[in-house]
Amino acid sequence: MDISQLVAKYEIVIRLGCFFGVFGLMAIWEWLAPKRQLSVSKTIRWANNLGMVFLNSFIVRLVFPAAGVGMAVFAEVGGWGLLHHYEAPFWAAVVASVVLLDFVIYLQHVMVHAIPVFWRLHQVHHADLDFDVTTGARFHPIEIILSMLIKFTIILLLGPPVLAVVIFEVLLNATSMFNHGNVALPIGLDRVLRWLVVTPDMHRVHHSVEDDETNSNFGFSLPWWDRLLGTYRDQPRAGHERMTIGIRTYRDKKWCSWLPGMLVMPFRGRVEDYAINRRKWESTDGLR
Ligand SMILES: [Zn+2]
Ligand SMILES: [Zn+2]
Repeated sequence: MDISQLVAKYEIVIRLGCFFGVFGLMAIWEWLAPKRQLSVSKTIRWANNLGMVFLNSFIVRLVFPAAGVGMAVFAEVGGWGLLHHYEAPFWAAVVASVVLLDFVIYLQHVMVHAIPVFWRLHQVHHADLDFDVTTGARFHPIEIILSMLIKFTIILLLGPPVLAVVIFEVLLNATSMFNHGNVALPIGLDRVLRWLVVTPDMHRVHHSVEDDETNSNFGFSLPWWDRLLGTYRDQPRAGHERMTIGIRTYRDKKWCSWLPGMLVMPFRGRVEDYAINRRKWESTDGLR
């Protein structure tokens, strides 16, 4: 049995092991040395954010039983995708696929901030009044489905090795829990680490209520896309301890912290600020 078959066979074990392993480590780290004080009790936050995670896992299994790995196997069997038409060394194909999938996730993240109807979904992630390991997995089910469909399309077009899809998904899951951690890394270490992976301080800027800060640091695993494409922002203006986390217009726990509110949020009210053409621009009258 080669490595691809082995990984495909134990995919669930690898995935769950990694999830609980990284989650456990981050939870202990946050408990021992939290960076910021939580504004909502941990019990309420965790019960509701993790409730969303369980709901999502259930929906994904129901709607897409084979998930990304199943799609990669399907592409392999059918000879779909670029990499099944051009000979590439196996490990080069794995690395290139993981990097490319990460780039697509970056673009997708920019898109859900830019397009008002998608921002409706993505705001559920941002409406969290605090920032901790559970924020990293808190997404509206429809955004999860949208994200799966985009990933399936890329897998069919690219035809990545099954191993690459597993590495990408496990990495994304692990880095998402790491970079949402309510933890403090030494500044020097953070500065070095930021060249390799998105750190909590880097991603926390993205959860600021200030819309220019929210529209920065879109990367999840690799930090290079923000730097290359001009969306990188070093630190929040107010500092990490004093900055306000969340969405300016959503401060009520009923919507921001409780699961039923989070599920309904995309269907409520008007989209304000944040989305690309919904900002309240200063009037330029008199200047022209
Ligand atoms: Zn975002
Ligand atoms: Zn986030």
